[in-house]
Amino acid sequence: MARDISRIEAADFAPLPLHPSSDIDEIRRLWSQPLRLFRLANALRRRCHGDEVSFVINRNINFTNRCVSSCRFCAFHCSDGGYFLSHEQILERVADAEEKGATEVCLQGGLAPGMALEDYCEILEAIHGGYPRMHLHAYSPMEVMHMSRNSGLAVEEVLRHLKASGLGSMPGTAAEILVDSVRQRICPEKLKTLEWLKVVSTAHRLGIPTTSTMLYGHIESFEERLQHLQLLRELQSETDGITEFVLLPFMPGNNPLGPMARQPDLLEHLKMHALSRVILFPSITNIQASWTKLGREAAAATLHWGVNDLGGTLMEENISRSAGSKEAQYLSAQELTDLIEGQGRRAVQRTTLYERI
Ligand code: SF4
Repeated sequence: MARDISRIEAADFAPLPLHPSSDIDEIRRLWSQPLRLFRLANALRRRCHGDEVSFVINRNINFTNRCVSSCRFCAFHCSDGGYFLSHEQILERVADAEEKGATEVCLQGGLAPGMALEDYCEILEAIHGGYPRMHLHAYSPMEVMHMSRNSGLAVEEVLRHLKASGLGSMPGTAAEILVDSVRQRICPEKLKTLEWLKVVSTAHRLGIPTTSTMLYGHIESFEERLQHLQLLRELQSETDGITEFVLLPFMPGNNPLGPMARQPDLLEHLKMHALSRVILFPSITNIQASWTKLGREAAAATLHWGVNDLGGTLMEENISRSAGSKEAQYLSAQELTDLIEGQGRRAVQRTTLYERI
């Protein structure tokens, strides 16, 4: 029987074994031989997905940028002033998304001071009441922790309330690099590795799927990236609740971490997508590239390096743009289809949970 990962302690995660089917030397060899890595990742991608590349029609809604935290990589938060969307403004955006064929809205915001569980639930209920078919993909593990702290309720209770209010799934953001010594340097106020794992595994246990992410290309080492991927593999083998893995390249603009970040070149980005496919195979089979962070041309190139999903149309993108992204805020379904077909692949529209539309 699967272990209940939400009840395990820090000791259960340390020391971390490496990928059971390959050792660190083999992973290093692959990393240093891009052609071999590319071929392997591409073969695994084809085995899982044939020639299909998926995307979802969705809309991001960043309902506030007020935040009590100050992660060093973040150019989005505002500790003084900032904006807060009203329910009416949120519902206007949802109506616009529905008109454009969206099946999902993705809601994330800063950790607004004093914002308690009922405020988050009311947003979900307002949308769910008016647009019951819209999938609500909402609130990062850090936001769940923020609700828990502000409301004095356990994480599990918070998640139960969110689900009852219409939550369909959660973004597995706030993961950054799941190594506490790195977290201490880039986001010291954020939840720790074990807390992230506990929030996400509790969500899975309650029937709330999540994505998984990695923010890479700043101060982390190669080994720390591997450790992060290994933790996600372990989590997935326990809960099977992760729908996809999204690589999020660090954006260096307008944030204190930017000047000290080692910025990967295009080849390193491609290799990182390929290596993620290889290490996460076969437990996480959907590997997603972020067109908003990489730019659409590099994102298209990743389709030859193990990637089978290009995420969503977004319609509104504030977080990468604050950190210097020059990419558009919106790619229509037709533009995503053209991008995919331009690489000789078949474009497939999907739901948040990877059902075909
Ligand atoms: S990443 Fe999120 S929690 Fe951290 S400062 Fe930015 S908005 Fe706040």
